Amino acid sequence: MKSIVIPKGYNYIGVFLTLDCNYKCSYCINDYSTLNKNRRHLSCEEWIKALNRIKGNVPVTLQGGEPSLYADFIYIINNLKPELDIDILTNLQFDIDEFIKAVNPNRIKRNSPYASIRVSFHPEAMNLKKTLTDVCKLLDKGYSVGIWGLLHPAHKSEIMLAKEKSEALGIDFRTKEFLGFYKGKLYGTYRYESACNGRELLKCECRTTELLIAPDGHIYQCHSYLYNGYDSIGHILDDDFQVEYKYRPCNRSGQCNPCDIKIKTNRFQEYGHTSVSIKNIQTQCVNSKIS
Ligand code: SF4
Ligand code: SF4
Repeated sequence: MKSIVIPKGYNYIGVFLTLDCNYKCSYCINDYSTLNKNRRHLSCEEWIKALNRIKGNVPVTLQGGEPSLYADFIYIINNLKPELDIDILTNLQFDIDEFIKAVNPNRIKRNSPYASIRVSFHPEAMNLKKTLTDVCKLLDKGYSVGIWGLLHPAHKSEIMLAKEKSEALGIDFRTKEFLGFYKGKLYGTYRYESACNGRELLKCECRTTELLIAPDGHIYQCHSYLYNGYDSIGHILDDDFQVEYKYRPCNRSGQCNPCDIKIKTNRFQEYGHTSVSIKNIQTQCVNSKIS
């Protein structure tokens, strides 16, 4: 198949192996949608054929949902071409010993200011002691792994305690801003705050810096489009598909996923990046209320 060249300006490649998760955190950002879970999943051979087309310096991030729930998660790690760097976003609820037996730690390691295996710690669902034990085991075996905790207003103290305990063990623990509504208040630092207020749908033009690939191989212009299964911009197994760094029309500003419009760090850990750029937002709404 033809190579897919990642344009300069792109910052992220998200491979959503599955949207399923073994947990149901009350604040899960995926709950912004119905998730359209009934879509088909690419086979592991299809994923390898598709992802090995990618050319560029942006790592491929295996994520979900929980990516390890995809049956051939390890096959994918072990069969991606060596030129592709791999990152993993996980809640670490898989068999760590099997993983250590099957995956060479050097395969998921690169020169970067943050860990390649990024464990999200969710106090609502996860046991801190077990999480720390598993992360220490992976670190001992040479994996690049760190923990991220979400500063949800209802869980701040648990997250800060987890950070203290992690750091005492030499684990890199970072916090993430909570995004979304809690008790009627919108949390998060956004470039376009009105774009996720859920009140009105506005027309605009939007350009992404992310290649987002859904479990069925369709590619979407943002998280909101992917989760809701709106029009895709191509398919990763289409031989003619190429990534274009360009503005596309959208009539759903107002329903943006907070992930796409928050101000955050880019892959070089430089603060001030936003996944999408939105321009020409029209003041007249398409719908007065989002259903
Ligand atoms: S572990 Fe992550 S993906 Fe799963 S329910 Fe919790 S927040 Fe959502
Ligand atoms: S404006 Fe919002 S909903 Fe529309 S494409 Fe951009 S991020 Fe997605």
